[in-house]
Amino acid sequence: MNITEATKHYRNIFERRTPEQIRTLAHIKRFMERLVADPGFRQALADNPDDPKSVAKRYGIGVDPNEMLPLYHRRYLRYRFTDEEAQWPLAVAWDEYMKDMFRHRDLLRDEGSMEDIHPRFHAWRERQIRRSMSELGGSGPSITHPIVAFELSEGCTVGCWFCGLSAERFRGYFPYTEENASLWQDMLRAVDGMFGSAARTGFCYWATDPCDNPDYDRFIADYYHITGALPQTTTAAPLKDPDLTRRILALFDKYRTVTNRFSVLTVKHLEKIHAAFTPEELMGVELVMQNRESLTAKADAGRARERQAKLRAAGKPDKISELSRDHTTIACVSGFLVNMMKKTVQLVTPVPGSERWPLGYRVFGERHFSTGEEFRQCLESLIDEHMAESLPGSWPARFRQDLRFEPMEGRFKLHSRSTEHTIQNAICGETAGALLAQGNLSVADVIERLVEDGVSVLVVADLLEKLFQAGLIEEPDVGEVPQVIPDRQTASLAV
Ligand code: SF4
Repeated sequence: MNITEATKHYRNIFERRTPEQIRTLAHIKRFMERLVADPGFRQALADNPDDPKSVAKRYGIGVDPNEMLPLYHRRYLRYRFTDEEAQWPLAVAWDEYMKDMFRHRDLLRDEGSMEDIHPRFHAWRERQIRRSMSELGGSGPSITHPIVAFELSEGCTVGCWFCGLSAERFRGYFPYTEENASLWQDMLRAVDGMFGSAARTGFCYWATDPCDNPDYDRFIADYYHITGALPQTTTAAPLKDPDLTRRILALFDKYRTVTNRFSVLTVKHLEKIHAAFTPEELMGVELVMQNRESLTAKADAGRARERQAKLRAAGKPDKISELSRDHTTIACVSGFLVNMMKKTVQLVTPVPGSERWPLGYRVFGERHFSTGEEFRQCLESLIDEHMAESLPGSWPARFRQDLRFEPMEGRFKLHSRSTEHTIQNAICGETAGALLAQGNLSVADVIERLVEDGVSVLVVADLLEKLFQAGLIEEPDVGEVPQVIPDRQTASLAV
């Protein structure tokens, strides 16, 4: 089995450190978890500025906070990521570890590349990545755009008030019977065969919790044997079935391809998780602090978004988390969302939570399947229908709805919530920009208008194609595009 760059890098994070260094990191990690989630811990540190070691000890943390002051102490924060940080060796050790983890996140995004095996899907995903970087604000850089997610249950038993995907009530799980296992393996082989190593970016939950399926570990073990990667597990119910959780962690120890995540719902929940697992056992698990008192932000999607809207409607302050940053979605897949219970597959990509896409992801199309072969055909037909290789002449010519257009001489600017795009084209930039901002013509119409004004068809087509590939053109919904405009289609294809 080939080992990818991402897996090599990930294993190396653990292998190149001594067991003692890993133990130290595990305890720094526990300190950081308390710091982010627990106001009582933060207060205890503030009350004992001269003896943070005894506070840490009380919480079962076996490192001296004095050796990592830049990680948490207001007066020392300015030394973080500077040469002077060397005075606090534990802060340096932690920052180096985090650097390794961020590098791994970027490698995971690269692992979804399909340039050689499926150039059409590759180009579509790259376009979605560029769009996301511009449209998703603070959420953009942290998304790795996995190409597939499988739900192994229907609904979720946890029912978090903030659920960014508004998971529905639990209706049952997909058991690992002989028949289901055979379908599952056929589907994994289809994904692996069609998309190669990009299949390794997939995972097995969405608006579902892995621990709602008691056979979950058997499904992900198959995933490893067929694709070469053990998918990431994110669960808000790690204590629901301790044996299942330990089986998942044992698979991590064996194959070690990506960090798992436990969502922490309350300070009490954190305490129970810390009591059930040692710092060393949780070294491969990121704790995602979702409790109200944590120093984190909620995405503006799903139930968190609904809660804020209700507060606003009642004329109350709409603060639902300690921090607020431009966190627009928790969705991450640019590719296929599959539900094994309903036998559905949707083509999706992250977008900011909105009235139109309240769950923070856009659905381009949906298919139903019942066999592995039908599943493969569904993927192909979604690709055929929605992944245009170049900008179709029949599409409406308009910028993404979130972009603000600013005309300038020989160029124009497009402003998104976090990015300013400058488009330079002395020949037709100004006119093309104005026509797209107007938004009531087709792509072929825009080309025709500019050609009538004496601009070379190649120049116009090149500009429009660049805007399309940059993810700046709004993709139409099915039904929005006229079915047949043969001569116009040809005009676009000809360039
Ligand atoms: S956030 Fe996760 S665990 Fe909580 S309700 Fe949604 S899907 Fe379930």
